[in-house]
Amino acid sequence: MSILVVGSVALDTVETPFGRADDALGGSATFFSAAASLFGPVQLVGVVGSDYPTGALSFLAERGVDLSGLEQAEGESFRWSGVYSFDLNSRETLETRLGVFAEFQPKIPEGFRDAEWVFLGNIDPELQLNVLEQVHAPKFVACDTMNLWIDIRRDALMRLLGRVDLLLVNDGEARQLSGEHNLSLAARWILQRGPRYLVIKKGEHGAVLFTPHSVFFAPGFPLEDVFDPTGAGDAFAGGFMGYLAQCGRTDEGDLRRAVIYGSVLGSFAVEKFSVERFRDLSADEIEDRVRLFREMTVFELPVDAGV
Ligand code: AMP
Repeated sequence: MSILVVGSVALDTVETPFGRADDALGGSATFFSAAASLFGPVQLVGVVGSDYPTGALSFLAERGVDLSGLEQAEGESFRWSGVYSFDLNSRETLETRLGVFAEFQPKIPEGFRDAEWVFLGNIDPELQLNVLEQVHAPKFVACDTMNLWIDIRRDALMRLLGRVDLLLVNDGEARQLSGEHNLSLAARWILQRGPRYLVIKKGEHGAVLFTPHSVFFAPGFPLEDVFDPTGAGDAFAGGFMGYLAQCGRTDEGDLRRAVIYGSVLGSFAVEKFSVERFRDLSADEIEDRVRLFREMTVFELPVDAGV
């Protein structure tokens, strides 16, 4: 049930109203692995530069993240820096320094090619397609993308959509990709172009799962202490894929529960800087929050409703 993830492994400098972290562990593959490894084994493929403190990733290795597909290349690591507004809902990217990531050509190790569960983190869609050429017969492929690729790699992204089971994007990206302002219309547009399922993430307002025949809403978990939203989307993906891989099925009920596990892992990600909250996060804490989600959303119809 191993999950393969391909994505960025970065050093992030993040400023929020509550503080600042310099060169902290970041990147889509890092956040994804930190969350998904709480459910089962993960195989990570990415690249870092010669300056990367690879020892800092040992906590991932200790809990089952196979880092043998993490290449260390001569040069500078990928660095991203951003600053968040007071309400933490919007962020400005201050700098993206690609370093060795500019030349990244994912090489999937032979031992990873039988992966059944594949997450294509936010990288050039040409590279995401290239990863799919290297894996044998995945059971479920999910991918992420961002405004940059929708702008400059639309053709490749459209080809990719024809080959994945699920696309995970935020509301702005869904609107940009489809050209539809209305999210239901945007979802229909996207589902008609390939993926069987779509998750639209709406930050603190939750996430929505669209299938061809249904819509499922998960609220955002009402946290009182949000510290750093960086990586919430990738942690969501890690919780989502981790849960699916652990249960081994993708029926609608499984997908709905996966959205809740995604929301739970995303909610933990924002409680501390970087991947700090995942270091000692326990299975009990995850299950407690899943139960709180259920309590928040379940309701009874009045007995006389006739339904
Ligand atoms: P999220 O908050 O879920 O959107 O993820 C933020 C993470 O994505 C940060 O840790 C960054 O290092 C990483 N990131 C930012 N820009 C890029 C990019 N252009 N390509 C790959 N990863 C990126």
